[in-house]
Amino acid sequence: MMTTKDILNELKMELPATVKLVAVSKFHPFESIAEAYEAGQRVFAESRPQEFLAKIKTLEALREDMVFRVEAGGGDAEADRGYMSDVEWHFIGHLQTNKLKMVLPFVSLVQSVDSVRLLDAIDAWGRANGKVIDVLLECHVSAEDSKQGFSGVELAELLEGWHGRDFVRVRGVMGMATFTDDESVVRSDFARLVAMSDMVRAAFPGHDSNEISMGMSGDYRIAVEMGSTMVRIGSMIFGGRG
Ligand SMILES: *Cc1c(COP(=O)(O)O)cnc(C)c1O
Repeated sequence: MMTTKDILNELKMELPATVKLVAVSKFHPFESIAEAYEAGQRVFAESRPQEFLAKIKTLEALREDMVFRVEAGGGDAEADRGYMSDVEWHFIGHLQTNKLKMVLPFVSLVQSVDSVRLLDAIDAWGRANGKVIDVLLECHVSAEDSKQGFSGVELAELLEGWHGRDFVRVRGVMGMATFTDDESVVRSDFARLVAMSDMVRAAFPGHDSNEISMGMSGDYRIAVEMGSTMVRIGSMIFGGRG
């Protein structure tokens, strides 16, 4: 059986150096994250505020415990205090505006900004807390109604009317293809996302807004072929829902 480490190593060898591997750890316990971390993985994504915060609290408690044990026995308490501080946490799930404080203090990227209302709420939170939040605009490119995100028209309106929002920095787009075995459908969904990425890039010439987060366990190879800069892989690394 392949271990988490084997799978991560294979993915690392397969993915071009320009594509960031985001390990989606939702539904899996903190121990699974720690195992992947020990195998060298540094970027993780979560999709539920409560679950994410619980894992951050687990990590903080673990650090305290390590520091306590080191101080009792002599050792490097400073190193333990910083255990996993080189992890980049991304948020990829639906985010309600009343849950921002559970997520924003700890993340380096919110990939799932799917409405103007959320964008403005994040900007207001950033202003109040003195933190500029990097975000991706989630775009709706699949055939499924239930999937959230900006349509092409909504995205164009947002970009044309852009104003202020000094506490969000748009770094690119995120999207999901239709869940289907029909590769041509997946390809045309990803092509639409790439076109929306061009609109975003043109709207923010002042900073790097080139990220295209596309590709999951089932379709990342196609996504990479079509220009993905970031793949979000969960079940392939961690198995089915834990
Ligand atoms: C769960 C999830 C993923 C990972 O999906 P897998 O098929 O398990 O790789 C990627 N992106 C988003 C937005 C998700 O919610």
